[in-house]
Amino acid sequence: MATESRQQHGLTDPFGRTVSYVRVSVTDRCNLRCTYCMSEQMQFLPKADLLSLEELDRVCSVFVRRGVRRLRLTGGEPLVRRGIMDLVRSLSRHLDSGALDELTMTTNGVRLRAFATQLKQAGMDRINVSLDSLDRATFARIARSDCLDQVLDGIAAAQDAGLRVKINTVALKQDNRRDLPDLIQWAHGRGLDITLIETMPLGEVDEDRTDQFVSLTALRQEMETYWTLTDLAERSGGPARYVRVAETGGKLGFITPLSHNFCDTCQRVRLTCTGTLFMCLGQEGSVDLRAPLRASADDAALNAAIDQAIATKPKAHDFLIPVRGAAPALRRHMSVTGG
Ligand code: SAM
Repeated sequence: MATESRQQHGLTDPFGRTVSYVRVSVTDRCNLRCTYCMSEQMQFLPKADLLSLEELDRVCSVFVRRGVRRLRLTGGEPLVRRGIMDLVRSLSRHLDSGALDELTMTTNGVRLRAFATQLKQAGMDRINVSLDSLDRATFARIARSDCLDQVLDGIAAAQDAGLRVKINTVALKQDNRRDLPDLIQWAHGRGLDITLIETMPLGEVDEDRTDQFVSLTALRQEMETYWTLTDLAERSGGPARYVRVAETGGKLGFITPLSHNFCDTCQRVRLTCTGTLFMCLGQEGSVDLRAPLRASADDAALNAAIDQAIATKPKAHDFLIPVRGAAPALRRHMSVTGG
């Protein structure tokens, strides 16, 4: 009974924000090694540390019962997790029941052709695909893998399957800044929305982030010298702000965690593949959900840990524009908390 009544409670943090969106990293492993995300020789977690698919389903389902309306599966690369479709199909019961508004995924697209139809059939309507360049050599240099063609083929397969695809592109001063207008035009020409992201100082990588940081505020000003950008009121509940590009007709998003801070409306938390809940991408605070999850088949302890976690959701992140030679703001990589 106590458990039941606790489950009725939504997830409102001390600043009055209601958590309705959970990003779930289903694995820290990835088939790419993007230079801004990982070092070339990444040490991945022992598989034994990961939550099983059943455990991931159980935690997600508790969040859904607590009022979460949107789930995004990410990683690492979610499509390299063995059995990922079993998890997607199982979670889709919450779409069928109406408890969940959206089940979606962020992927690098390398394995998308093999999964696109299954994702659509399991109830996914849209996915995000990360793509930093249309130039094969540039793509290969950033991703440390020559697989642009597979990604483009995966995007085509997703569109053919009826999935709406949004492209996510990290803006990199040296690698892709000059190519971004072409990439935006390419995306809009195919009916794809695209969002640009500032590099965030997460985890040790092999290069100095100052060399790659581009302020999207400056980039937007530059774009306004050749495009007409109109602000859109639309919000995704996240940090992206959107404009319409008159010349292409498409929608362009900007995620600017370093040059702006939109934390006052943050509705999301992030679960790692080992069951650690992070209340903010840009802060270290976390609560372990794996121990209470494994302690009993009853969800009371898990619900209590979630309550404790939400009570500590910080007011804002405190990312700073990277300073040459500085250690990363946070030691963990994006692949741990999921992008
Ligand atoms: N493998 C999937 C993918 O590539 O989309 C999902 C995980 S990946 C960590 C999610 C997103 O985070 C990608 O768009 C990636 O470019 C972005 N990302 C990774 N490290 C980042 C960083 N340090 N700063 C900004 N974005 C980052």
